[in-house]
Amino acid sequence: MQGYRLEPSGLEQVFEKLKSQSYEIIGPKLKDDAIVYDRLTRVKDLPIGLTDEQGPGYYRLKKRNDDAYFGYVLGPQSVKHYLHPPVFSLWQAKRTEDGFAIPKERESAPRYAFIGVRACELNAILIQDKVFLDSDYQDPVYLERRKNAFILAVNCTQAAPTCFCSSLGTGPKVEAGFDLLLTELINETEHYFVLETGSEKGQVFVKDVNLPAASEAELEAAQNRVKATEEQISKKLPTEGIKDLLYASYEHPHWDEIAERCLSCGNCTMVCPTCFCTTVDDVTSLTGDTAERVRRWDSCFTSDFSYIHGGSVRPSSKSRYRQWMTHKLASWQDQFGSLGCVGCGRCISWCPVGIDITAELEVFRQERGQSESN
Ligand code: SF4
Ligand code: SF4
Repeated sequence: MQGYRLEPSGLEQVFEKLKSQSYEIIGPKLKDDAIVYDRLTRVKDLPIGLTDEQGPGYYRLKKRNDDAYFGYVLGPQSVKHYLHPPVFSLWQAKRTEDGFAIPKERESAPRYAFIGVRACELNAILIQDKVFLDSDYQDPVYLERRKNAFILAVNCTQAAPTCFCSSLGTGPKVEAGFDLLLTELINETEHYFVLETGSEKGQVFVKDVNLPAASEAELEAAQNRVKATEEQISKKLPTEGIKDLLYASYEHPHWDEIAERCLSCGNCTMVCPTCFCTTVDDVTSLTGDTAERVRRWDSCFTSDFSYIHGGSVRPSSKSRYRQWMTHKLASWQDQFGSLGCVGCGRCISWCPVGIDITAELEVFRQERGQSESN
């Protein structure tokens, strides 16, 4: 492992350099009592000295007893909000004297520099790459944003009880898909980052910033910090035989039990960094002067999403939750060659009734005598 030592004050220089390269900096920020991805103009916009506590249906912010810049686990949003925006205008038409005109030129896609991206989120981006780019029909909105993006990832130095990335091989250590990677280290006397590069873009960037090499002891401290995070992760989602288990459980009565708790609110799909479903609305202004086609996120939990002439094919919470979980953990494998889950735990924290995908799966496993504890 090779790396550089970056002082907290040096992070401002990184921000300035990104801005000079016309990147719009998107990173963690305190907003509405949560840490969300938002536009940052300076390092002070980061949620310095804050951490999060999470559990099923539970998310609270707390003050830390230090000034860590990335001392929280995960907020409700992922970078999906920027690469695959929740609402996007596909085209607009304006009334003219002799009909309607549709402007041919699209606004160029923003150049985002994402700060603080975690290992599970990077893996979610790699999954969305398959969904949006790995076919004959690429999504131009995602493609342009993805192509332009600069990613400054951060290794997790603490885990929440909702995290289960280590079961899926998607964290907590950042392995690939980044330009720069930071590990934040704080002890009684020092606060610094170990910075690694993961792409040519990242290497060029670091050369210009001119940083000292990290010492062996600093590199080891960074590795130990991430190992300690991995040891903190207690939640598990065993993946062996998961597809066959779910396909064989299609008529299982436990789906009815989940449906008694599930509100079909769709929160789990909104916060999930891999869910990608959308719908399209045509909107006309009241004056009739403009018309617009808007794409927006949708969810397998809405009745309209599976509406086919005559009615919805998933009329119950039972059928919707079963569709969601079976897609994430089973049919996604047939469709895209991987699971559709990276173990970030957001769907657990942000489910208003605390439904936990790992606990629900365990019920199916136990009944088939496949539990790890058996
Ligand atoms: S299904 Fe839940 S844990 Fe898995 S990636 Fe989506 S939000 Fe994260
Ligand atoms: S599982 Fe939870 S978050 Fe998802 S739709 Fe049901 S109640 Fe909402």
